[in-house]
Amino acid sequence: MVIETNKVVTVHYTLTEGTAEGQLVESTNGGEPLVFIYGAGMMIPEFERNLTGMKTGDTFAFGIAAVDAYGEYDDNALVEVPKSMFEDEGKIPDGLLEVGNMLPLQDQDGNRLNGMVAWVGLDKVKLDFNHPMAGVDLYFSGHVEALRDAEASELEHGHVHGAGGHHH
Ligand SMILES: [Zn+2]
Repeated sequence: MVIETNKVVTVHYTLTEGTAEGQLVESTNGGEPLVFIYGAGMMIPEFERNLTGMKTGDTFAFGIAAVDAYGEYDDNALVEVPKSMFEDEGKIPDGLLEVGNMLPLQDQDGNRLNGMVAWVGLDKVKLDFNHPMAGVDLYFSGHVEALRDAEASELEHGHVHGAGGHHH
């Protein structure tokens, strides 16, 4: 059996920025592995493409350019808004507008989006709506831990059942 569409893939991986020596972003080592249905649109397509045809026990190491991962950093997604927008009964809640805070917001169509406070001025703040990993080249290394066929119910639900997935 090899990794292809509709296989349930279990991998342990380490994600670093740019190269193997780059800053550590996350790692499943010592924790729960990542379990996903290949080809179900859960993962970055380029991540799946690099695992195609692998077998249990195979190791991998590859980079993905930012443009193929979470996108390039978009200057237009840095938006300046008046601080008064965040007033609650005439007062901005303590600690709300601090650089680095993620604010759950809604656009005029009611879509939820997260804006990170990037800059705080006297009357205005700049919110960054870029993905936190935008503009970052990714480097993955790891191995294939397990591989099996997805069950019909998993394909129907679009997620994995059992270990590493949904229990219902
Ligand atoms: Zn389900």
